[in-house]
Amino acid sequence: MTQIAPIDLRSDTVTRPDEAMRLAMAAAEVADDVLDHDPTMRALEDRVAELLGVDAALWVPTGSMGNLIALMIHLNRGDRFLAPAGAHVLDAELGTAAWLAGGMPHPLAWDAAPGRASAGAIRAAAGASGLYFNLRTTLLCLENTHNAAGGTVTQPDEHALLVSVAKETGLRVHLDGARLWNAAVALGVPPAALTVGVDSVQVCLSKGLGAPVGSAVAGSPTFVAEARRIRKMLGGGVRQGGVLAAAGLVGLDRIDDLAQDHANARTLAEGLVELGWTVRMPETNMVLAEVPDPEVTLIGLRHLGVYAWPMPGMLRFVTHRDVTEADIKETLRRISSAS
Ligand SMILES: *Cc1c(COP(=O)(O)O)cnc(C)c1O
Repeated sequence: MTQIAPIDLRSDTVTRPDEAMRLAMAAAEVADDVLDHDPTMRALEDRVAELLGVDAALWVPTGSMGNLIALMIHLNRGDRFLAPAGAHVLDAELGTAAWLAGGMPHPLAWDAAPGRASAGAIRAAAGASGLYFNLRTTLLCLENTHNAAGGTVTQPDEHALLVSVAKETGLRVHLDGARLWNAAVALGVPPAALTVGVDSVQVCLSKGLGAPVGSAVAGSPTFVAEARRIRKMLGGGVRQGGVLAAAGLVGLDRIDDLAQDHANARTLAEGLVELGWTVRMPETNMVLAEVPDPEVTLIGLRHLGVYAWPMPGMLRFVTHRDVTEADIKETLRRISSAS
């Protein structure tokens, strides 16, 4: 059998830095960021803060560390935090929200939309804290887009409503915005329209934006000063990090390119429907397809040179900047040739 080039739709994390990004990394001006700030790191942090409409930001090696830092700042032992079921902070960070940040997780059902709880559900879960031995609910974690729900988007008015209910009931708000850029592009709004009222927000540079490494966690200057201490505590202080921040800066110039990923996801979803698959229409760059036996279908696709990601009862296909429109057509051709 001749070797066919695989089309990797497992995740947008598979994106590799291209020539322009590598050149920017090679040319980056750097200094010791742990001692007195690396200039390129600083430029990236300022740019992220501006884009998110907050006062300060901090580069972190991963989104998981960004979320953990925020939760360590917001939570005390004996606190409870709310998050929509399937949230990354609940299911994909090894429980660090509990065992490092000290918060008891409370998943909220998706009673409003896939990946989203209603204002009423948040109000009810926030509730009065009761007796001294009851948990204190102190934090709401939102996720936009919601990964496990298939990259679903929360609109600015809905976001504002959830934040206002959280504030009324005495909760702080952390936004896991790993793919906030995708949400903003899908809605045609600036990213800052989706961060209104939050106490902290985490965004990824290493997914659809294509940087090899990096996220940022952002909020008030006081929050970021504390975040810098905790990043060091977790071993995440890097020295000449400008080499990595330079890649992030190039990525931030490419936010608008995400529209192509979203168009490609729609093309893929529509093509799969034509082939008789049961598919949820994508809001951003993820296509969820219901299949009776994900592992079996996954292996079949792998033989065709199409890589997807298994989920309970489903396969997930993620479009990204290393997959072209032609690759999506080729994906559909490979699948149709086998069916
Ligand atoms: C990818 C992701 C993160 C962070 O992931 P890292 O691999 O640690 O960078 C956080 N939240 C969501 C929703 C994600 O998809």
